[in-house]
Amino acid sequence: MNIHEYQAKELLAKFGVAVPAGIPAMSVEEAVAAAKQLPGPLYVVKAQIHAGGRGKGKFKELGPDAKGGVRLAKTIEEVEAHARDMLGNTLVTVQTGEAGKQVNRLYITDGVDIGKEFYLALLVDRATSRIAVVASTEGGMDIEEVAHSAPEKIHTITIDPATGLMPHHGRAVAKALNLTGDLAKQAAKILEGLYAAFLGTDASQIEINPLAICPTADGDKLYVLDAKVGFDSNAMFRHKDLAELRDLTEEDPAEVEASEYDLAYIKLDGNIGCMVNGAGLAMATMDIIKLNGAFPANFLDVGGGASKEKVTAAFKIILKDPAVQGILVNIFGGIMKCDIIADGIVAAAKEVNLSVPLVVRLEGTNVEKGKEILATSGLPIVPANDLGDAAKKIVAEVAKAA
Ligand code: ADP
Ligand code: MG
Repeated sequence: MNIHEYQAKELLAKFGVAVPAGIPAMSVEEAVAAAKQLPGPLYVVKAQIHAGGRGKGKFKELGPDAKGGVRLAKTIEEVEAHARDMLGNTLVTVQTGEAGKQVNRLYITDGVDIGKEFYLALLVDRATSRIAVVASTEGGMDIEEVAHSAPEKIHTITIDPATGLMPHHGRAVAKALNLTGDLAKQAAKILEGLYAAFLGTDASQIEINPLAICPTADGDKLYVLDAKVGFDSNAMFRHKDLAELRDLTEEDPAEVEASEYDLAYIKLDGNIGCMVNGAGLAMATMDIIKLNGAFPANFLDVGGGASKEKVTAAFKIILKDPAVQGILVNIFGGIMKCDIIADGIVAAAKEVNLSVPLVVRLEGTNVEKGKEILATSGLPIVPANDLGDAAKKIVAEVAKAA
């Protein structure tokens, strides 16, 4: 689960991380009111979407010469004009894809002077099964590009869970960022806050880009200027307060509906809808569809107990995708017997008025009974004997129907 920048910064501030003052706004009036509460004289109006690259992004409705989704303003009037420009319009960035994302929320923040921009992230390193801190002096830019062209500029420090964060980790990060003296201390404090936030919220990723040195009347300060926080969805049951930060308008509607039925669904670009039980079998099914020259329209794992209700919901979700031209059901009846699954498929196919070819491969307990139910259902269901047979048949059926 991901959250907006303003939510991430409010969260990090609670853990003692230094962020510039800021206020979210849902309308032009709120943006003006927010700016009036900030000290000025410089403000930043920031589009809030669940995607990065906003600064260099372009608004579809405003043409190529208009400014992007992160804009400086020197007066309240400028804040108002930027808010008017952004709200309701579609921001396209390197991370949104061509369709872009509609901007419904803004964050009005204090504008700061920037001396230097760094990159700092915490994530779960699967290779070491530890939290890793990634630090680079090359912040502000596309970090993937730096990783590619100058990998030596990216430093990774893993944290042993037995000791947790130690002072030497803070020193290592400061060294990686070439910081000494008071700035090194500030970096260590920010790392402490980020680490506590990471553990305390069951985060899966905290990405700060940029972390910036900002010259102030009070000396140089390190500030988090942009924050991207993602949580482990499987842990959200123990963070009810964080679950409320979810913004459903940022998510694919079909994926939201699927999560309501406890279905693991991810939309993909192909034309063959897949309904499978078990993530491994779902992956294998997608692979074999590709092997046969076609592309899956989705990943869908209905889980071990594929009940009639779940199968019906899954059919409906798959069929909502206009790209779907055929469905492949590949279910192993282990926990749930094949005859029960076949009953569910038949009932669901009737209920949704199935209009595309359907190939079903069942295997497992009571498979013969299950096949019998499908064969006598009166529906044009194409039975398949194994995974390879199923993939060949659905690809052929889709080609035939086209
Ligand atoms: P994105 O990564 O989506 O483009 P950022 O929040 O990183 O958005 O903003 C882009 C750039 O805008 C930053 O790299 C920084 O240079 C500048 N910026 C962001 N916030 C501020 C701020 N509060 N004051 C001054 N400049 C800022
Ligand atoms: Mg950024």
